[in-house]
Amino acid sequence: MTATSKVLGRQDGVRSWQEDLYRDVHRHPELSHQEQRTAGLVADRLKAAGFDVHAGVGGTGVVGVLARGSGPTVLLRADMDALPVEEATGLPYASTDTAKTSNGQAVPVMHACGHDMHVAALAGAANLLAGATDAWHGTLVVVFQPAEETGDGARGMVDDGLAKLIPTPDVAFAQHILPAPAGLVGTHSGPVLSAADSMRVTVHGRGGHGSMPQATVDPVVLAAMIVVRLQTVVSRVTPPSETAVLTVGSVQAGTKSNVIPDHAVLQLNVRTYSDQTRQTVLDAIRRIVVAECEASGSPREPEFELFDRFPLTDNDIATTDKVSAAFTDFFADRAVPMKLQTASEDFSDIPAALGVPYSYWGVGCIDPEIYRRAEQAGRVAQDIPVNHSAQFAPVIQPTLDTATQALVVAALSWLASE
Ligand code: ZN
Ligand code: ZN
Repeated sequence: MTATSKVLGRQDGVRSWQEDLYRDVHRHPELSHQEQRTAGLVADRLKAAGFDVHAGVGGTGVVGVLARGSGPTVLLRADMDALPVEEATGLPYASTDTAKTSNGQAVPVMHACGHDMHVAALAGAANLLAGATDAWHGTLVVVFQPAEETGDGARGMVDDGLAKLIPTPDVAFAQHILPAPAGLVGTHSGPVLSAADSMRVTVHGRGGHGSMPQATVDPVVLAAMIVVRLQTVVSRVTPPSETAVLTVGSVQAGTKSNVIPDHAVLQLNVRTYSDQTRQTVLDAIRRIVVAECEASGSPREPEFELFDRFPLTDNDIATTDKVSAAFTDFFADRAVPMKLQTASEDFSDIPAALGVPYSYWGVGCIDPEIYRRAEQAGRVAQDIPVNHSAQFAPVIQPTLDTATQALVVAALSWLASE
């Protein structure tokens, strides 16, 4: 009997509480840095399974360590936070919760990114691995991380001394559910998720009467010029072989049709897959903004503020080869290659700080029959809600089973067999 079949042989015994945990966390989502309830649920589960548990790491982070003799150390990570989105799935366990943001604003909350599935899968995998006492040896580290959506949860756990709480892992893994057919697991070597940077740019004009533009410097026209000129960064500045995305997601200026305002604020989002391209794009933005301000006769230097910055997720090739071979062994034709994703993650801040190779894979979460029909109609983009959508509604099974199995299979390809 293989270690995998020993561990997963108990899966029928965990499935129903895992599904309950999923629905419970889905019904009660918590915003970034506010994951107290979720953290409490997972800490209880880990203690009951025999883990040494450290709570309150980097705010609400929970770390479980299960040392079982000599052998490699494997780190598995799940993120716990939800988003300020009003759920519109119509599911019986849909969230109706609200929460206060850091600036005191009341907002609806929803697990629109599926981190509830990551929580339930990792809690189950931890229980299964802990329960199979004769299947493996080594050390299992599980990390339940806060605040992935704000890009600072992983860094917060590192800064709070994660490295001192755990033995240095040999490898680290994380996963994300994606709008692909449930039952599929996708791997990808090398850069897989983009680095992301958000930037707030404030440009200054001189306000005045809408009928007397000669006495003003109009920041609305200035901002419009910047928006247009920024379109040349990806088309003319970065190499055609390099993928980059530059989106202006928000432009704000003025209050009234006949008042020329004195400033405009633009919010930009940048996605790149190499440090060099990242720098090229950020430099080009600054250059264009400064030059357009100069061209408009702006009375003051523009201001730049970078926020919500996510590192590049660059899967280690040897690690990913080994994981993907183990997945093919276990999942057969349900193990597939995953395409490059334009989304971003802060998971890699943990292995980067620990100096550990890592792999991050995707798990499908859409009812396969619904997906097949959308595909046949050529309407996947229109009909299948994606992560962060108010309609994002992962099908619980086989998503949860598959995500649990993926964690177990990957961990056991490192942990030593008994
Ligand atoms: Zn997300
Ligand atoms: Zn996410």
